[in-house]
Order: sequence, then C-alpha cells, then structure tokens
Amino acid sequence: MKIAFLTLGCKLNFAESSSLGKELLARGHRKNQKGEQADVCVLNTCSVTDAADRKGRQAIHRLKRQNPDAVIIVTGCYAQLKPVEIAGMPEVDYVLGMNEKFSIPEFVDMLEEKVDTQNLRQTISVSSIREVTDYHASYSRDDRTRCFLKVQDGCDYFCTYCTIPYARGKSRNADIKSTVAQARRALGEGAKEIVLTGVNIGDFGKSTGERFIDLLSALDSVDGEFRVRISSCEPNLLSDEIIDFVAHSRHFAPHFHIPLQSGSNEVLRIMKRRYTRELFLERVEHIRNAMPGAFIGVDCMVGVRGETQEYFEDYLQFIEALPVSQLHVFTYSERAGTRMLSLPLEVVPPKERKRRSDIMHEVSERKLHEFYIAHKGEEAVVLWESKHEDGIMWGFTENYIKVSGEYDRKKVNTFQKIRI
Ligand code: SF4
Repeated sequence: MKIAFLTLGCKLNFAESSSLGKELLARGHRKNQKGEQADVCVLNTCSVTDAADRKGRQAIHRLKRQNPDAVIIVTGCYAQLKPVEIAGMPEVDYVLGMNEKFSIPEFVDMLEEKVDTQNLRQTISVSSIREVTDYHASYSRDDRTRCFLKVQDGCDYFCTYCTIPYARGKSRNADIKSTVAQARRALGEGAKEIVLTGVNIGDFGKSTGERFIDLLSALDSVDGEFRVRISSCEPNLLSDEIIDFVAHSRHFAPHFHIPLQSGSNEVLRIMKRRYTRELFLERVEHIRNAMPGAFIGVDCMVGVRGETQEYFEDYLQFIEALPVSQLHVFTYSERAGTRMLSLPLEVVPPKERKRRSDIMHEVSERKLHEFYIAHKGEEAVVLWESKHEDGIMWGFTENYIKVSGEYDRKKVNTFQKIRI
C-alpha cells in the first residue's frame, strides 16, 4: 500500500510516527512519492490548543483533496480527545485513539488484505484514557542528523489549562536499559544528535522505579561522537544535580528548555503549577553559573483566566530581567474538559491575549538577538545538517546557535569547529 503519513505537533508525535512508518515499511508498504496518490493517509494529530485542532481539520481536508480515493485514518491527541467531532467529517474513515495508534501497521495490513473494513467505516476506535497504560518505545530517524528519542509518555500533573493528561494518560516509561538500547540503535543508524523527548520527561522513572539522572548518566557513558539535548523539563524536576551533571558530562549540550508559563506567582497558583517564580529564577541562575554560555529557552503562556493586567505587568517585569535566550510564547485558549473552565475568574478577551502575546514575542526577539551577539566571534562546534539552499548549509552549535556556512556535501552530519 502507498502510505501518506502526516504528523502535527510535538517531537513525541514525530518520534512515534517515525517508528510506525518504519514498521509499515518493514511490512512491505511504502511511502507515496511526491505527486503520487496514496492508498492510505494517516494523520497523527496534536490538540495542545484550538489552533492545533484547526490545523488537524485543515490537514484532513488537504489529504482528501490530494488523495481522493485514499482511506483516511486520523489518530493522535485530537483523535483521543474529540473522536466524535473528527468522525463527523465526511473525509474521515477511521478515528483511532492513543492505544489504537500503535496498531496502525496491522490495520493497514487488514486494509490491504481487503478484510471487510467497509463496515468499520466512520468507525471510532478510542479506548478510555484510563486504559491508555502501555508504553511504546519510539525514535525518529527522518532527519539524517537528529533523532527524537522518546523516553517518557503521559503526565500526572493536571495543570488547570492543559488537556494533555486526558490525551496521553498517566506518566510511564521504559526502563533505562531498553531506552539506552534504543539510543544505541539510532546512533548505529547514523544519528549524531539525540533529543530526549516526552510529555513530562523529568518524571522519567515513575513506572520503573528509576531516576531521570541515572538515565542521563547511562546515556553519557555510551561511547561515540554524538551529543544529547534534554528537551522541555519542568523546573521543579530540573534539579541542581541534573544541571551540574550536564555541566560536566561528555555528551550533553548546554541547552535547556524550561516551561515557566507565567512569571506571576498568583497565576502559577491558578494554573496549579508546582513551583514559584523564585524557584524558577534559582534554576536559571544555577544554569548560568555552571554554564554561562548555555542556551535557555522558556515556555511562556499569556492570557489565561485570572491573568489581570497587574499580574501580566508583574510577569513581564520578571521575564525582562530573566537571563534566558528565547521565549516560546503560547496564547491561552479555552479548552473543553480542562479545570480552568470551572474557575470563576475573569476571562481575558482574545484581543488582549493577542496584545500580550505580541509583547512577549518582541521580548523574545530581543533576548535571542542579544544571546547571538554575545557569542559572536567565539569558537564553537557545529553539527551540519543536510538542508541547503543557494550554496548555503545550516547547523547548530552545542548551545543552539544556528549558523550557516558554504554548502559542502561531505560536511553533512559531521561536527566541525568554527568561529561564529
Ligand atoms: S506538566 Fe502540566 S502543562 Fe505539562 S503536560 Fe503535564 S499537565 Fe500539561
């Protein structure tokens, strides 16, 4: 069968799609070529915001337009959370939930064998989120250079604005031994950079009685020329021990991504986050002391219920003074099923949410520019990527500065010492 696989959302979705794609190939199916009609389209969706749901619906229309005779299968977070809404779209044949996602290869085999799936059309197969307890190891290898290695799934935090625990289930992981084996496999296939990926990766070990730091240490003991980045880690879980470990490790890049979400303690309480802004500042200062040149990206949300003008101003002041490199700004959207909707708090009008988001984006651009300028002229090691245009290629330094250089095919997926 010719399969078109489209993935939306986070690194975790990409890791899972990539593993499912590999399994489909191993079963004799293949990717549809550019311009070639697919027999089956699989859409792996995201549902982190309303905009993500909208993108999912647009992708369904597009896939059907491009592949009018294809069977359309929709899976992922949006499918788990709103299966009826998706099944109501005439283009959609099957809606598969989080557990069912990992049966897609068998399902495609059934389609090929012409098992009578016709009577399943418009079928929703979505387990209750309480039953979503299996862990499926995955890693992406679509990019020749980088690998998103899934190390954890699910979340037990239930922040008041977030639907993810209802889409991905409880926190769980594979054990250290098998996770390191996955990493070795990716490295054996040529990956030079591993990005540890999950929903709440600092929570690693909950289901196996192990510790995240021990996973980091086991990965660091693997020989070879490669580097590892820790993707988003909750500030309460990013301990000083982990920061010091990264500072003295062999393979870990001085690159952190920490979700702050609000710089107002009152709003953090409304969100039911598990730290104060003082703790967040301590973490950032610890990183800056241990690794002065580290890249620190911070997730910031604006416009949640109860974020008064005064709280926002307070948040902004905190952010302005925070020695970080970039902000990832998210505008709050009211999500059915979240606890936030039951809080009797003032709703920030959408226009005001956009104004706050624009301000944060400006702050982010300034911070990123300052970070880049501060490192100009320094020596760094870049890992060159395969994408190139007009004789120029790109890569990232260990502290995540994007650099360009003259294209040389031989340099792709190799490290090079450069002056920025
Ligand atoms: S930590 Fe909070 S924001 Fe992050 S996935 Fe869990 S519930 Fe959602």
